[in-house]
Amino acid sequence: MLIGAHVSTAGGLRNAVDRGVELGCEAIQIFHQSPRAWRPTSYGPDDFEAFNEAFAASPLGSTVIHAVYLINTCSPDPEIRAKSLASLTHALRIGDAIGADGVVLHAGSRKQDPLDEAVARSGELVREALAESAGCPVLFENTAGTSGPLGRDFDELAMLVEAAGGGERIGLCIDCCHLFASGFDIVSPEALGGVVDDLDRTVGLDRLRCLHVNDSAVPQGANRDKHASVGKGEMGKQGIATFLSEPRFDGLPALLETPGPDRRGPDRAEVRLTKKLREQGLAARA
Ligand SMILES: [Zn+2]
Ligand SMILES: [Zn+2]
Repeated sequence: MLIGAHVSTAGGLRNAVDRGVELGCEAIQIFHQSPRAWRPTSYGPDDFEAFNEAFAASPLGSTVIHAVYLINTCSPDPEIRAKSLASLTHALRIGDAIGADGVVLHAGSRKQDPLDEAVARSGELVREALAESAGCPVLFENTAGTSGPLGRDFDELAMLVEAAGGGERIGLCIDCCHLFASGFDIVSPEALGGVVDDLDRTVGLDRLRCLHVNDSAVPQGANRDKHASVGKGEMGKQGIATFLSEPRFDGLPALLETPGPDRRGPDRAEVRLTKKLREQGLAARA
């Protein structure tokens, strides 16, 4: 497992590598553009070269990109659709340029639209974005359980994967906070094991390429997306240790997206604690 965190690209793409190293990360996640604006970044070959050189010289083993929250792959609105397609394509091309292991994507909200129609629109858009980029995968992320955003359970994730063509470039990112908030019991190894069995049956574990490691500020089944720092939420140290020590998650990038001590993201101590909780989880299972 490659434990790391979401880091800022402020001041330039390559700065994300330095920030990851400072935090003691083994993997990093970045935004390809400001997450709350449509305006794309204008990174060029020099930015990619600087990033790739810094990454190669670092102890980091994986980079993933998080797509911006404004993207809605199932929107019937032509303007939102066009902007979503452009932004996802931009993310995938940057992913290609920096050798990212995937672009993590919240599929978007279907509002009151029928599920099958929304999924079909999502699939069409994602297939177009894949066709406009070379090889970087799209990783659908599970959502926190409200009924609008697609991806609240494994059946919906399976539908999204299939609608997007079900090829090699379609994978999943599982966020433990979202699982917990949407009602899954994942705090004990036995319960989590059953959930992972279910994921394997429904979507296939070969699709799972990335983990998000966040504690939940809301109780199990609260259906709200509110991250807490590791060990400080309702999952607690026990829940996080269980998640990190699931044997079938071995080798995956596992990224913190927590508020951190001063709400500026995880710090070095939290990355260290996360590594320690994985060791404790492994020891408890042995
Ligand atoms: Zn997440
Ligand atoms: Zn979240």
